[in-house]
Amino acid sequence: MTPFRSRYVERSGLGAILDKVLSGERLSREDGLALYRHDDLLGVGTLANHVRETLHGDVAYYIVNQHINHTNVCVAGCKFCAFYRTAKQSDAYVLSPEDVERRMREHMHEPIREIHMVGGVNPDLPFSYYLDVIRTMKRVRPEVHVKAFTMVEIAAMAENFDMTPEEVLRRLKEAGLGSIPGGGAEILTDHAHQVLFKGKIDHRGWMEIAKTAHRLGLKSNATMLFGHVETLEERIEHMLLLREAQDETHGFMAFIPLAFHPENTRLSHLPKPSAADELRNLAVARLMLDNFPHIKAYWIMMTPRVAQAGLHFGADDLDGTVVTEEIYHRAGSMSPQMIGRHELVALIEEAGRVPVERDTLYNPVEAVPRRPPFDPRAVSPTPVDAAVAGDAARA
Ligand code: SF4
Repeated sequence: MTPFRSRYVERSGLGAILDKVLSGERLSREDGLALYRHDDLLGVGTLANHVRETLHGDVAYYIVNQHINHTNVCVAGCKFCAFYRTAKQSDAYVLSPEDVERRMREHMHEPIREIHMVGGVNPDLPFSYYLDVIRTMKRVRPEVHVKAFTMVEIAAMAENFDMTPEEVLRRLKEAGLGSIPGGGAEILTDHAHQVLFKGKIDHRGWMEIAKTAHRLGLKSNATMLFGHVETLEERIEHMLLLREAQDETHGFMAFIPLAFHPENTRLSHLPKPSAADELRNLAVARLMLDNFPHIKAYWIMMTPRVAQAGLHFGADDLDGTVVTEEIYHRAGSMSPQMIGRHELVALIEEAGRVPVERDTLYNPVEAVPRRPPFDPRAVSPTPVDAAVAGDAARA
């Protein structure tokens, strides 16, 4: 007898998927599409929330981290990108290892556990640059975890320096690389690749590098950029490819849906995805990616308010404090560039979750249990169930 039955979900016509979720049966491509197309966002969210609470109870993770974008020079020319510049543009930049050190030293008083660093595909940088930057980070803060470089950057290093992706990853790991952020996936289909980002690796290349990293002991995340030219079928295809790869390597930590920000891009005529679409993506991902431990509501993209709601739509992580984020702000993100640790904790508590600070690999640093441990047998009806019960009683 399962502890969770949601009359609300059943009444919304999601009963068949509910049965699969409760029995642990893997959802199909058709189920995924049904979840995307279903009228009842709250019903989809309630299902995802059940899975999220089964896995993580009331816990919501966050990390104290610093973002550094080492260069905005890029030759890939992705149509959705507002960040990149050609080397000749006046606001093109490359941070030297000394610049990176200076940025880190500005925040030495903060208990930063992770440096997240990604940048453009800049063919003018020698391989020694990447090694120097990582070594600098480890010298300045030996305890910090360096999570750096998209699969796209790693592929470009392999090509430019005549190495295999495995050699590149080994050398970066020896220098101190701890994990890979998982960006550059965009939408893992040939259609999206052709239309949007022909100048960089396709889904086969992205997945090959992710799997190679995992085999070398480098965990990664996986992103999905949605809300541009892709279809719902392509979103599901993207998730199915990730799920299949995860069955093989178990190297992905978190899935991070990223809403497309059209401002200052070549697709600025497109509307920005709605908050409802952002929440639904979290929920569908939580339900489809049954082998991904974590779903991240990335506040810097979603805004803190929507990310907070995301903690009830399948997400169990808000990411981090983030200092000086540039990629999404160039595309019109209205989020602040950083949030203090106390603000993040308050956001999580206000959403009714229990904040737990983590390291990059999701080891809790310091649990802050404000509630009794989660007991799935003691799940009380959701407010929606209660409302439905109230309606029924009044009828
Ligand atoms: S998304 Fe990345 S690879 Fe594409 S143009 Fe922007 S910086 Fe370059």
